[in-house]
Amino acid sequence: MPADLSASLPPWPPLDTGQPAAPLRDGWRLGVALPIMVYTPAATDGSEAIADLFDYALPDRSFNSVDPGDVRSGDAPDEQRFTAGQLIGCRVRVTVGKRELIGVVFTQRPLSQQGGLPADELKPVLEVLDCKPILPADLRRLLQWAAGYYHFPLGEVVATALPVLLRQGRALDLLARYWRITPQAATTLPGRSTRQQEALQALSLYEAHGASEATLLLMGHERTTLQALAGKGLAESFEQEKEPQPDQPRLSEVPLTPSSEQQAAIDAIRQLVQPAAYRFEGFLLEGLTGSGKTEVYLQVMQTVLEQRKQVLVLVPEIGLTPQTIQRFKRRFAAGIVQLHSGMTDLMRLQSWTAVMRGEASILIGTRSAIFTPLPRLGLIVVDEEHDLSYKQQDTFRYHARDVALMRGQMAQCPVILGSATPSLESLHLVNRGRLQHLHLSERAGSAALAELKLIDLRGKTRSAGLSPPLINAIRQTLDAGNQVLVFLNRRGYAPVLLCESCGWQADCPRCDAHLTVHQTPLHLHCHHCDYQSRLPAACPQCQSVNLAPTGTGTARVEELLQTQFASVPVIRVDRDSTSKRGSWEHIYEQAQQDQPVILLGTQMLAKGHHFPYVTLVAVLDVDGGFLSADFRGAERAAQLLVQVSGRSGRGARQGQVLIQTYQPDNPLLQTLLQQGYDRFARDTLQQRQLAALPPYRHAVLLRAEAMQPDMTQQFLAYAVGAFKAQAGSHHAEIWGPIPAPMEKRAGVYRGHVLILFQQRQLRQQLIAQWWRDLVKTPERRGVRISLDIDPMELD
Ligand code: ADP
Ligand code: ZN
Ligand code: ZN
Repeated sequence: MPADLSASLPPWPPLDTGQPAAPLRDGWRLGVALPIMVYTPAATDGSEAIADLFDYALPDRSFNSVDPGDVRSGDAPDEQRFTAGQLIGCRVRVTVGKRELIGVVFTQRPLSQQGGLPADELKPVLEVLDCKPILPADLRRLLQWAAGYYHFPLGEVVATALPVLLRQGRALDLLARYWRITPQAATTLPGRSTRQQEALQALSLYEAHGASEATLLLMGHERTTLQALAGKGLAESFEQEKEPQPDQPRLSEVPLTPSSEQQAAIDAIRQLVQPAAYRFEGFLLEGLTGSGKTEVYLQVMQTVLEQRKQVLVLVPEIGLTPQTIQRFKRRFAAGIVQLHSGMTDLMRLQSWTAVMRGEASILIGTRSAIFTPLPRLGLIVVDEEHDLSYKQQDTFRYHARDVALMRGQMAQCPVILGSATPSLESLHLVNRGRLQHLHLSERAGSAALAELKLIDLRGKTRSAGLSPPLINAIRQTLDAGNQVLVFLNRRGYAPVLLCESCGWQADCPRCDAHLTVHQTPLHLHCHHCDYQSRLPAACPQCQSVNLAPTGTGTARVEELLQTQFASVPVIRVDRDSTSKRGSWEHIYEQAQQDQPVILLGTQMLAKGHHFPYVTLVAVLDVDGGFLSADFRGAERAAQLLVQVSGRSGRGARQGQVLIQTYQPDNPLLQTLLQQGYDRFARDTLQQRQLAALPPYRHAVLLRAEAMQPDMTQQFLAYAVGAFKAQAGSHHAEIWGPIPAPMEKRAGVYRGHVLILFQQRQLRQQLIAQWWRDLVKTPERRGVRISLDIDPMELD
C-alpha cells in the first residue's frame, strides 16, 4: 500500500537563521501558537487583544543553502511539497526576543498574500520539527474552543495537550529506512553476485513503494548488499514513516450477564454507537460503588471496539488506574495504554503516540488525557465524574468533564459520566434534558451497604478529635481482627467557629452563611458580604467558653492512634505519602492482607478502592464540610460520606460507618442519612436555585494576590469598578472584593471577586473585554491575577 505523500516527507532541515541572502520571493506565513502570553495591538479596532497566534515566515527553501542530497531522490518539486495546510498541526522552533520556543502551526498561507506584517519583517522559522501534523484538526478545534472558553492563551492550552517531550522538541521517532528498486533495474543486470540477485528479486516484489530495511534484514539480506545495489544505481533507500500496526482488539473473557438495569443502560448507549449512526449524547450513569457501572462501560466498549473505534476512559486518580487497567485487560486483548502523572515522560510519549497512530484502542488516563489525539474516537467515559481532580486548580483551569462533553459533541460520539454521587452540575444538566439519566440501584454481588450512624460530639471530651465512643468502636473492630479506616476531610476547608458545648456556630447576620475564622488578625469574616466581627468571648447561646475553630490535623490523629493501638500498624494515605511512584501499590497490598490495620487518610481513601477487610469507617470532622463557608461544602461532604461508606464492608463482612458531628440535627446531614444522596442532591439543588448560585448561574472568579493586603484589595476594587463601567450591573451579580478564606499564604495576601451571570453567552462576551483590559492596566503592578471560569473552589 503506497503511503500518502504527506507521510513520507522527511523533517524539514534547519534553515539559515540570519537574513536570507536573496529577497524573499515566496514561502509561507505561519500562525504559530506559542506557550507565552503576549498582548499586541490588534490591527482593526485599535484595542489590544490577546495574541493567540504569532506570525513567522517559512521562506521558500530554494533561497536557503539546503543540500538536496538529504532529501530522498525522486522528490516532488519544492513548490508541491508543502501544499496549503501541510504544515498546520506541526511543531516549529522559533525565536521570541532572545528566547527559542517551540510552538504548533495553526494557520498557513502564502507569504505573497496580503495581510499582517510585511513579509520581510517577519522572523523566519528556525526549524520544522514534524514531517506530519502531530495535532490533528479535530483536536486543534477543541483546543481553540478551550482557549476561548477559559480565556487562556492558545499556546498554553496547546502545551497542556502535548506530552512534555514533544513540548521540549523531541522527534516523534516514527521514521524508518526503506529500500526499493529503481526503474534502471528493469534493464540492467545485477552482475554475478547471487546475494545481489536475491536481494533485487526480493525488492522487486515490493515494487516502487519499497520494503523497510528491518524487514529485509530479517529476510537475511545484508545492508552491504543493498548498498552495493545502490552503488550500481539499481536500488535506492529513503526514509519514511513506519507503517502503524493497527490494533486488532478481541474479546478475551466472557462478559457477565447484565442485570435488567445494566441491560437497559447498555441498550440506551449502544443505540448511539451503531455503524454509520454515531452521534453525540451525554449520559449520567448513576449507581453506588459496586452497582456494576464498570460492567456497563465494558459492554458498550465492546461494541465500539468491534467497529475498530477507540475509547477514552478518564479516571480521577493514579491510584485508581492499576485496578481499572487490570479489569480492562482481562476483558479485551487489545492495545490498552495509560496516561497519568505517575509515568515517566517517555512512557507518556509512547502511550500518546500509540493512540495517535491507532495502535492502541483504549486510553485510560487522568485529567489531561482528554486532550490526546484519538483519530477514531468512538466513546468517552468519565468515571467518578463528580471528582474534584477533574478540575485543574492552577494555570489553565479547565474542567475535564466539561471538555469531555464538548469533545464528544465535536467527535459525534457518546459520553458517559459515571458516579455514585453525581455532581449537582450534572444533575442540573439532567433536569434541563441535556444528559440522559441512567440508574443502577442494586448492588451487584452480595455485599450489603454499610450502616451509617452519628456520634454526637456535644459535651464530649475528645483526644486529637476522637471521642470515647469512637475509640471504643475502633478497639472492638481491631480486636475482632478487622480493619479500620479513619477518614479526615480537610480539603477546601475553611474553619468556622463552633461552640463545643451546644453546637452553636458563628453565622453572618446579613447572609445565609457561616463566618470564617481568620487568624491574622484574629476575626470572623463573611465571604459573601464582607461583614466582619471580633470573636465572641463566650457562646451567645449557652455562655460556654469552649469556642473553637473546627478542624484536626492528620499528624495529631496519627500520633494518638499509634499510642492507643500500639500493636496495630497505622498506614497514612494522603498525597504526600503516595506521591512516590509505586508507593500507593505498596499501601494497597498491605491493606489486602487479612490482618488488623488502621488506614488513616483523606480524599484518596474515599475513591473506588476495594478494601475487603475494612468493617469500620470513622469520619472525624464531617462538620468541616457541612458548615463550610464555600457554598459547595455540603455537596462535597455528602459525596465523600457516601463514597467512604462504600469502603466499609465490601467483602463478606457487614460494615458500619461512624460519623462524628456537633450538629446531629443539621437538616442536610439528616436528609442524606435518612433519605439518601438523591434526595439530598435535589434539596441542595433547590437551595442553589433559590440563592441563584451555580449551576443556576454561571460563575467567574477573579483572583488576585500581592505582597500587601491593601494592594490586593485595591486592585480588586478597581476591577469591580471597571466591570461595572463596562457591563453595567444588571447582567451580573458581583460578590466582593473579599479576602480569600486563607488570606495570607506563603507571604502573599490573596483575595477575589466572584461574578455570577445569568447567561453563559453573555458571560463570555463581557469577561473577554474586561479581562483583556485588566491584564494590561497599570493598576495591576505588583499584583498577580488569574481568571477561573466555572470555579469549583472559592479559595
Ligand atoms: P462499579 O463500577 O459500579 O463499582 P462494578 O462494575 O465494578 O461496579 O461491579 C462491582 C462488582 O460486581 C464487580 O466485582 C463485578 O464483577 C460484579 N458485577 C457487576 N455486574 C455484574 C453482573 N451483571 N453479574 C454478576 N456480577 C457483576
Ligand atoms: Zn454554646
Ligand atoms: Zn455575610
